[in-house]
Amino acid sequence: MNKSAEVRDFIRSIIDEDLRCGTHSRIAVRFPPEPNGYLHIGHAKSSTLNFGLAAQYGGRCHLRFDDTNPLTEEQRYVDAIKRDLRWLGFDWGPHEYYASDYFPQLYAWACELIRKGLAYVDDSSEEQIRDMRGTVNQPGRESPFRERSPAENLELFERMRAGEFADGSRVLRARIDMAHANMKMRDPLMYRVRHATHYRQVDDWCIYPFYDWAHGQSDAIENITHSICTLEFATNRVLYDWYLDALGLNPRPRQYEFARFNMAYTITSKRKLRQLVQEGFVDGWNDPRMPTLAGLRRRGVTPEAIRNLCISVGTTKVDSTCEPEQLAFAIRNDLNRRARRVMCVLNPLPIVLTNWSGDATTLLEAPHWPHDIDREGSRKVPLSRHLLIERSDFAEDPPKGFRRLIPGGTVRLRHAFVIRCDRVDKDHAGRVFRLHCTRLDRVQQSGAPKVRGTIHWVDARTSLPVEVRSYDRLFSAAEPGEQFLSELNPSSLVVHNSARIEPCVRDYPADTRYQFIRLGYYWQDPDFSRPDSRIYNCIVPLRDSWKKPKPAQPAGRDRPAALQDTPALTAAEQAWLMENGLSAAVGLAIRQVEGGEEFYRQASRKARPQSAANWMANHLLPALNNNSLAALPFDAAAFATLVSLVDQKKATADEGRAVLAAMITGGGTIQAHLRAVRAQRVSDPAILAQHVDQVLEHYADRVRAYHKGKHGLAGFFVGQVLKRVRGQASPHQVKAAVEAALRRA
Ligand code: ATP
Ligand code: MG
Repeated sequence: MNKSAEVRDFIRSIIDEDLRCGTHSRIAVRFPPEPNGYLHIGHAKSSTLNFGLAAQYGGRCHLRFDDTNPLTEEQRYVDAIKRDLRWLGFDWGPHEYYASDYFPQLYAWACELIRKGLAYVDDSSEEQIRDMRGTVNQPGRESPFRERSPAENLELFERMRAGEFADGSRVLRARIDMAHANMKMRDPLMYRVRHATHYRQVDDWCIYPFYDWAHGQSDAIENITHSICTLEFATNRVLYDWYLDALGLNPRPRQYEFARFNMAYTITSKRKLRQLVQEGFVDGWNDPRMPTLAGLRRRGVTPEAIRNLCISVGTTKVDSTCEPEQLAFAIRNDLNRRARRVMCVLNPLPIVLTNWSGDATTLLEAPHWPHDIDREGSRKVPLSRHLLIERSDFAEDPPKGFRRLIPGGTVRLRHAFVIRCDRVDKDHAGRVFRLHCTRLDRVQQSGAPKVRGTIHWVDARTSLPVEVRSYDRLFSAAEPGEQFLSELNPSSLVVHNSARIEPCVRDYPADTRYQFIRLGYYWQDPDFSRPDSRIYNCIVPLRDSWKKPKPAQPAGRDRPAALQDTPALTAAEQAWLMENGLSAAVGLAIRQVEGGEEFYRQASRKARPQSAANWMANHLLPALNNNSLAALPFDAAAFATLVSLVDQKKATADEGRAVLAAMITGGGTIQAHLRAVRAQRVSDPAILAQHVDQVLEHYADRVRAYHKGKHGLAGFFVGQVLKRVRGQASPHQVKAAVEAALRRA
């Protein structure tokens, strides 16, 4: 029965036994998130378990939204949860359910319990009820309203439902045993009055069921066989069974509990995660530092890595905590085989190869998969007189054991040759800003200096300026407590804003995962990267670099600031950048090309200087390959016209890039190119309007909610239209069309 021999746990033993004895012929389990936040890594554990059981035993796993609290639940969380589960690779087929859809059935069952004398309306206040509950050592006291007749209770309960009573004035309680050893059994609450609008049932209800009353009965309605939850619900099991028995429901589900998945240096509580988001400590639920599935996805972690981790930690009844290194290990394990190797320099230090002849550029052939000899695939790595190496790979005054470049020392450039550092240029402040090096061809000769190591590098001119973000643990404390906001790691995000990468990355899809040689695994941030700026996230470094913060270091309640990491520049470079208001990455890219400064000067007369610079550094220069600016079939003024078109929103950045590519190929006017580019996109207002209408028709419920004041939904509609046209339309145009249609509707 149990197909995969390596996963054995107590839950699988129970199921095997149930199937063997014929208690069930097929199993049905469920994953029951409450739509009050995004799913986190703990939910990944629970969903991997439940969906995994269904797959393994050929049963079903239902996705049930446990949506019984109108105050905290929202449709956008439902959408996010579904998106994240699909991404993890789970499929619930038609079995998507909502506890709130069972409200009528739950109400009818509550009336049945009242008629049986097993439930009553209590007029006591919340506080009085708490006082009467007793303690673990002392029995509780019975409420003065406990002996009401079924008829009176029924009438009061109906009036509760009809909205006659204020919030908090009455509750419905099960009538069990105020002296029960298990406090959960001391007349637990079943319903409270809450005059609030539910995101799904809107204003149909003003009484809402409590978890224990809703959950087991929902399981029964769906014919769940094994209802798996975490250990803290173990004491609720008696009540779970009591309700099912009291209603005489058969066949009936059984509850089993396993240990929560905890992770050190992070939190797995939606409430706390929501606070981080709402108070702006992170950039939203999908901030790459968040332990949410959306955050992990954006960071670049694959669903396979997460599922493998969840399987490898096992399913037990003993609480344990997963170390972040276990997650890192699972990620590396998965990415090692899928990540192309490329070189990226995070914090560049220029070097000049003094014995390299003139302006020549060589293209080296370098394998993408050097670790796997059977795998084909390589890229061309440009190499010329001017290169960039990692600042940390050079030391004037090396610490003991330093195996990289030092004055007079040698080092191998990965995929290329050995160099020797002959001279070090420093600025006024004594900061190293350039190395003069010689290429050595015959290092094997006796007497030659020993090669100390191999370092990565990029070509100064053809490499692309990129921003690289490295992430560290979000918290400095291994177990962030209630004071978690003061335990945030102040350096959880480090931004390398002048990094440079091999130009080959332009040839691969945006979602390609790379290993930046010697650094770690990276991919392009899908949310932050704009067409004119590439931002790479570090998914996981090659080695664990975590250092426990010194206890003296005060951890503030401030938002963890991004540490900016700027390279050492010459005074002249700095002055030029300041004068032109350019970032180091963009400015240096421009200055490194012959005629770059002049082209920029001319372009910035006609276009906004910042935009001209960004477009040069990010689109024009990388596209030059080894041609010079002077050889372009257009001049700086024409380039500026294009940049301005985008700036003034007369063309989108996407369109601008397509036009630029056409201009480089030669011939034609900008307007003609733009027309050609647009002809391939959906911009006809009539066609767009049809898409908008179809979307609004499909989401009629939400259109009603929009008109009731949920104006945030406009963005949702725009997103849906863009999805339909596969992004082939201008978001501005779509937004205008949606707004117009909503005004009409
Ligand atoms: P949170 O405190 O994060 O809101 P929750 O249990 O209230 O957690 P739900 O949306 O109700 O969140 O959880 C859906 C399912 O996921 C439940 O079955 C719950 O037991 C399970 N689950 C939640 N957190 C974890 C965890 N850390 N480890 C394992 N399972 C979890
Ligand atoms: Mg819950």
